[in-house]
Amino acid sequence: MNILIIGGAGYIGSHQVKMMLDYHNNVIVLDNLNTGYQEMVDHKAKFIKGDIRDYDLVCSILKNENIDVVMHFAALSLVGVSMSQPSEYYDNNVVGMLNLLNCMKDCNVNKIVFSSTAAVYGEQTKMPIDEDALTNPTNPYGETKLAMEKMIKWFDEAYGIKYVTLRYFNVAGASFDSTLGELHNPETHLIPIILQVALNQREYLGVFGDDYDTNDGTCIRDYIHVEDLCMAHKLAVDYLFETNKSNYFNLGYGHGFSVMEMIEAARKVTSHAIPLKIEARRAGDPALLIASNDKAKKVLHWNPQYDDIELIINSAYQFYLKR
Ligand code: UDP
Repeated sequence: MNILIIGGAGYIGSHQVKMMLDYHNNVIVLDNLNTGYQEMVDHKAKFIKGDIRDYDLVCSILKNENIDVVMHFAALSLVGVSMSQPSEYYDNNVVGMLNLLNCMKDCNVNKIVFSSTAAVYGEQTKMPIDEDALTNPTNPYGETKLAMEKMIKWFDEAYGIKYVTLRYFNVAGASFDSTLGELHNPETHLIPIILQVALNQREYLGVFGDDYDTNDGTCIRDYIHVEDLCMAHKLAVDYLFETNKSNYFNLGYGHGFSVMEMIEAARKVTSHAIPLKIEARRAGDPALLIASNDKAKKVLHWNPQYDDIELIINSAYQFYLKR
């Protein structure tokens, strides 16, 4: 199968590239390298530097490489930054998706696996969150992803582009050979920042709020290992070819950890004291996000393997130690 992985030089995309190659697919990567790293792209994939908003380039790849399915990872994804720079988020994410779907329509490529997010749900009272919950984003990042989801749905209705949308909860960890992992500059994600403290690259972790309505007052998230997440994408591709139907799924483990619990787990893994300071809440952060994953298990036959928070943190720690 010929697969176009857009954003394949990024954290999750690079893991997906490797997995799809391991399953004997022909993989083409398109990435503008704004946040990705070419060195993270497996050399067995064909790498093309370019932007998802470039109509001529995307069409030429779809046609020349005879693409069967697109996997779309190329989005800006930081909640905090999206609050101060919504314009960039709408341009990269929503305009990018519109261009991609137009290219797929015009070039007769009719299958896509799309990376969405738990941020489309916003604050919910019922936990865990299932796929039927009303979407209600609390930040521009979630709004752009929801707009992208809706766009694909209408392109399916009108032009028969079949999709699987995967709503990620908090993706974490690194490949077990420690070659692929999470590198952002500047770093804003919890686990990499905790590990920067453990590696003495930062003095302390700033905890964003301890007055949330949770057990210890800090935010709770459902952290999922990147390899389990990528396996769900592989199953989503299988699903599209087996059923030719569109669908959408949550990806998480169905339980969560507070920021304080994450710090405690990292202390065990790294044997470092991990000093912290309580800081103000970060704008746009919901208190609690936990996935119901029943649908992905039932329909995609997804069977996650790495639901162990210390294993997840340790895989990331080994990646940073190696670098
Ligand atoms: N967080 C924190 N300090 C940091 C980074 C993150 O307290 O330096 C918190 C953040 O408020 C959220 C959780 O850790 O409750 C996970 O944040 P992250 O940015 O990793 O992922 P998000 O949930 O925003 O996708």
